[in-house]
Amino acid sequence: MPLTSDQLAEISAQRETTAPTRRATVPALEARLFEAIPLLDHGFLRVIDYMGDDGAIVQAARVSYGRGTRRVSEDAGLIRYLMRHRHSTPFEMCEIKFHVKLPIFVARQWIRHRTANVNEYSARYSVLDREFYIPAPEHLAAQSAINRQGRGATLQGEEAAQVLRLLTDDAARCYDHYADMLNEDAAGAVVDASRQGLARELARMNLTLNTYTQWYWKTDLHNLFHFCALRADPHAQYEIRVYADAMLGLVKDWVPAAYGAFQDYRLGAVTLSAQMVAVVKRRLAGEAVTQESSGLSKREWVEMEAALGGA
Ligand SMILES: Cc1cc2nc3c(=O)[nH]c(=O)nc-3n(C[C@H](O)[C@H](O)[C@H](O)COP(=O)(O)OP(=O)(O)OC[C@H]3O[C@@H](n4cnc5c(N)ncnc54)[C@H](O)[C@@H]3O)c2cc1C
Repeated sequence: MPLTSDQLAEISAQRETTAPTRRATVPALEARLFEAIPLLDHGFLRVIDYMGDDGAIVQAARVSYGRGTRRVSEDAGLIRYLMRHRHSTPFEMCEIKFHVKLPIFVARQWIRHRTANVNEYSARYSVLDREFYIPAPEHLAAQSAINRQGRGATLQGEEAAQVLRLLTDDAARCYDHYADMLNEDAAGAVVDASRQGLARELARMNLTLNTYTQWYWKTDLHNLFHFCALRADPHAQYEIRVYADAMLGLVKDWVPAAYGAFQDYRLGAVTLSAQMVAVVKRRLAGEAVTQESSGLSKREWVEMEAALGGA
């Protein structure tokens, strides 16, 4: 369980509180506010706050005085037009703030997305929890032979067991040494009065990258879509993809029209180069185009065939 009973009680108490507002709210997201979605073995994602709804995108696009809403179908049509033509700024009018608990190696990938506001749990100030990400056996895969950034077949038998042992033992040993250097117990009490204990900011360098960290991460809808387009993609590492997928589930509740447009024009869409479009046109005209006669490199050809379903 990623949260303690005290933390769950704090979340429940916060969920009991409501305040009247003139601002736009979205009942489906209100229902999920503050609740932690468990991810990986000790991680989670939860929405702390948000601003705007589908109407806010429309309102900004029309620079309206009121809510800017005409008919729902007209609004959805406008949102789809904006997404299709990459008019991004109306989507920046919606903001969302998450609380995320994630392994440090996932945080290193995530932090590359610079168009967000981040505040991370300070391991200079506080002691990190004794929690490490250990992949479930079905995610313990070998290096892919065809994709240098990907995974191949799942490890089996003794090899899988040995990897799990090493991951668990190394993380535990490094954490034990961290705690020993700090000279503090879990409650922050001094263990050995004859020792000073190493500063937290130094002791933390001994921790393994699968140790969990936490942060508040706030971004706007345009940049969240950009994050999800890259990190909910099958090319992204599984461990960050689960967070991107969970975010998309929340976005679906928050701004259903924008989510639908994103699915259709970004996630489910493909980009064809000018040369690829020429190949498609030649094929539609009845020509049997080969890779050699296409002008595309082998890699481009394979990517185009995959995008078009091996046409
Ligand atoms: C599958 C995958 C593999 C990857 N592999 C590697 C790797 O091997 N090595 C590696 O180092 N990284 C790697 N990355 C990270 C990747 O190169 C990007 O750094 C990361 O995805 C963030 O993307 P971004 O810059 O578009 O996002 P953001 O930082 O959120 O920026 C969004 C957009 O804002 C604009 N922008 C933001 N800041 C600036 C700026 N300072 N100057 C100009 N424009 C800006 C850009 O248009 C950018 O696309 C990988 C990412 C993925 C998804």
